[in-house]
Amino acid sequence: MTAAARRALADAVHRPYWLDRPERPDPLPPLTGADSADLAVVGGGYSGLWTALLAKQADPGRDVVVLEAGTCGWAASGRNGGFCAASLTHGSANGAALFPDEIVTLERLGRANLDDIGATVDRYDIDCDFRRTGELTVAVEPYQLAGIADDAALAARLGHPGILLDRDALRAEIDSPTYLGGFWDTDGVAMLDPARLAWGLRRVCLDLGVRIHEHTRVTGLHRDRAALRLRTPHGRLRADRVALATNAFPPLLRRLRHYLVPVYDYALMTEPLSPAQLAAVGWHNRQGISDAANQFHYYRRTADDRILFGGYDAVYHAGGRMTPALEHRTVTFVRLAEHFRATFPQFDGVRFSHTWGGVIDTCTRFCAFHGTAYDGRLAYSAGFTGLGVGATRFGARVMLDLLAGADTELTRLALVRDRPVPFPPEPLRTAVIQLTRRSMARADANEGRRDAWLRTLDRLGLGFDS
Ligand SMILES: Cc1cc2nc3c(=O)[nH]c(=O)nc-3n(C[C@H](O)[C@H](O)[C@H](O)COP(=O)(O)OP(=O)(O)OC[C@H]3O[C@@H](n4cnc5c(N)ncnc54)[C@H](O)[C@@H]3O)c2cc1C
Repeated sequence: MTAAARRALADAVHRPYWLDRPERPDPLPPLTGADSADLAVVGGGYSGLWTALLAKQADPGRDVVVLEAGTCGWAASGRNGGFCAASLTHGSANGAALFPDEIVTLERLGRANLDDIGATVDRYDIDCDFRRTGELTVAVEPYQLAGIADDAALAARLGHPGILLDRDALRAEIDSPTYLGGFWDTDGVAMLDPARLAWGLRRVCLDLGVRIHEHTRVTGLHRDRAALRLRTPHGRLRADRVALATNAFPPLLRRLRHYLVPVYDYALMTEPLSPAQLAAVGWHNRQGISDAANQFHYYRRTADDRILFGGYDAVYHAGGRMTPALEHRTVTFVRLAEHFRATFPQFDGVRFSHTWGGVIDTCTRFCAFHGTAYDGRLAYSAGFTGLGVGATRFGARVMLDLLAGADTELTRLALVRDRPVPFPPEPLRTAVIQLTRRSMARADANEGRRDAWLRTLDRLGLGFDS
């Protein structure tokens, strides 16, 4: 199997497929010299771009500047799986466990957020292959069927549509010999082309008058009387308000380091499949798919009928190390290629064109937290833990409400007011994360049985996820 996986990977280039296309925009000039703005947004991924876009929509006269260390969308936003979920809480089950009194409201806000993303894509003609096909969660081990049934029951309780599929019905929809049953959340997830969404949001921001500086890393932040001053390698910016949208990268606000760890997630992209190859599997409804293990895979079809296959390994490096070299992990790519072949033996001989990795901002409760600093002049939203394609737009709205000092439905939420439990400091941090990962792998190999450590974390509402 390993030899076949290696053969399938032999010609793959190591860069994110989504970013490796000719429509990638040319970079915008960096900030040079001294400048000022009403609102400075640090980071040009979805979080930053949505913040700038929504700020301009609300007040076209507001002077908004985005400062991006690389190019907009180069990081997680341009290299993810493209599952754009309504859930603001890394799944309804996690939300119901963490915020039982608020879950109905959170689900309503999440569905409205997804509707609004779709409406923005339509309104500004963002060509990002947005399709509300839903997501199928599949059981690949018998013990996972109970969890799938629980998902279906929770969806019904929350009034969401969805279809519980037994093995035969599921395999009629998508034929994998590994499938035992599944739940199709038919409305709560849209599948999209992630880089094209980022590039589209960037274009809309520019059209609305947002000023964007790329290759402009903010290296320092300090108070300057009634404003904040941002330092960059070749310039400085004085801003009345600052939105921090830097995801897993070392935060400019030191206190955030306690709550966030950078976790590497990996993916493969196949070459385009022929209609005959696809006919052997079905998958006409183009749902996103993930399995119900702790170490889960996620996979989807693209507009040009490739298959993206990712997940399983979620890797934390001691000390929170982040370097471009860590985006390449042969052992993970080979493992994913083997798992792909086991999932779809019909695709024997299909080769991969791209392999890549990227960083997600894991926090202990798996869903974003928010807050302010510098007397409300700075707001942040971080901790999306691998489910930020949709939730970042909500985080952007929260940051703008916080920066306005407004008392709104959003700022009153426990989701917004409460912080996650911090990670312990190093070297304990690495030890605890590795212990948790090992326990999760053991549970997957052991019919889902959770050991004493995982049960303790469950009781405390804590964990490690991607
Ligand atoms: C492989 C992979 C697969 C994923 N799959 C999914 C999925 O299918 N569905 C889903 O919902 N989520 C998924 N995610 C997560 C999702 O991509 C993120 O939650 C989301 O893109 C976060 O957006 P962001 O703008 O907060 O972060 P990013 O896109 O990481 O943007 C942060 C930006 O801040 C910039 N920056 C950092 N520091 C500074 C500084 N000091 N000065 C200036 N700029 C700075 C960075 O250069 C970067 O561009 C995945 C992530 C990865 C890596």
